Amino acid sequence: HLNNAALFARREAAIPRGVGHSHQIFIDRGENAEIWDVEGQRYIDFAGGIAVLNTGHRHPAVVEAVKAQLDRFTHTCFQVLAYESYVELAERLNAMAPGDFAKKTLFLTTGAEAVENAVKIARSATGRSGVIAFGGGYHGRTLLTMGLTGKVVPYKAGFGPFPSEVFHALFPNALRGVSVDDAMDSIEAIFKNEIEPSRVAAIIIEPVQGEGGFNIAPPELLQRLRALCDQHGILLIADEVQTGAGRTGTWFAVEQSGVAPDLITMAKSLAGGFPLAAVTGRADVMDAPTAGGLGGTYAGSPLACAAALAVIDVFEKENLLQRSRDVGQRLTNGLRAIAAKHHSIGDVRGMGAMVACELFKNGNPQEPDAALTKRIATEAAARKLILLTCGTYGNVIRILVPLTASDALLDEGLAIIAECFDAALA
Ligand code: PMP
Repeated sequence: HLNNAALFARREAAIPRGVGHSHQIFIDRGENAEIWDVEGQRYIDFAGGIAVLNTGHRHPAVVEAVKAQLDRFTHTCFQVLAYESYVELAERLNAMAPGDFAKKTLFLTTGAEAVENAVKIARSATGRSGVIAFGGGYHGRTLLTMGLTGKVVPYKAGFGPFPSEVFHALFPNALRGVSVDDAMDSIEAIFKNEIEPSRVAAIIIEPVQGEGGFNIAPPELLQRLRALCDQHGILLIADEVQTGAGRTGTWFAVEQSGVAPDLITMAKSLAGGFPLAAVTGRADVMDAPTAGGLGGTYAGSPLACAAALAVIDVFEKENLLQRSRDVGQRLTNGLRAIAAKHHSIGDVRGMGAMVACELFKNGNPQEPDAALTKRIATEAAARKLILLTCGTYGNVIRILVPLTASDALLDEGLAIIAECFDAALA
């Protein structure tokens, strides 16, 4: 009979260690916010496949839409034979994206591809090469997106040389004394020391840094970036691969700042568990690359487009944007109650249901506690809760639970987190 340890041994022998693992658990099946492993043990899933399952494992409406598509056709390559679902999904995202201007959408398969393509489009539209990203940011594992990513180990170590014309600005962090002014000053320093603004094609930012530690970009930062971009003819790209598809309480996180980016990247929860990514942006900008300059064999797979249309319907029918805000409130309250007892939790923060707590030694932000963070995730798995960590310093516990999870399940998960802190700090 299958067991986790035996499968893990086979994994170690057959798969390179570069493909990291959070847990030594092999899934048998999943449903909404619960999974069962190959040994028949039930877990609560607070990871959601890293922000992919806002509508839960196998949402019935998503499964039904994909099954119907499976019975019609599974692949054509959109550039060869088109299908309506790709067009309809583009129309819906164009209407949903912020900005009082005409928009167009391109589909791809992964978040990294969406980011790569947003930069390609921005370069083509501006005739400029430079790109400014942020320290602590994460944009993917391809060469260009690795270059944009602002964390060396494990994403960049040993993989260089990286693309030129990529520069990193400071991301504000109140806990570490980095203000919005500091962040804007760091861009002015790049203009002084590295590249003139007239050669910068785009500034790319995550409205909430995901892998970097659930660091929320203050609305003022996004507004000032918008103004700076307008001043210099630079395009603003919001990387909403992790924040998008309703995770933060609005379909796009950037909506909450009132800022309309020129280009938005999305992936993850967009298709409820199927591989799909998108770039939505200003129609004139999106039309810059020459005919045939964009695309991909699997890009905008009919199965994924069917799933994504179902996901958007589910959001409307089940009022999941409101649910995202309610889930966030419940999780934040729960974590704050734990923090009141355990001073190692130095900060609890979130935007909608993108919620995290940050762990310090002696409550001191200068002393991130990665060891305790890892211990909590391990304790949680032992108590049948799947938790993820993140952060430049590896000291952040993040929650990306399906928005379709019941309050009872959220409370069950929170109670396990409380037990983990009690056990780890006993
Ligand atoms: N951008 C952001 C903000 C992400 O969080 C991620 C994935 N964690 C990516 C890009 C890359 O997406 P993918 O893994 O699908 O290539």
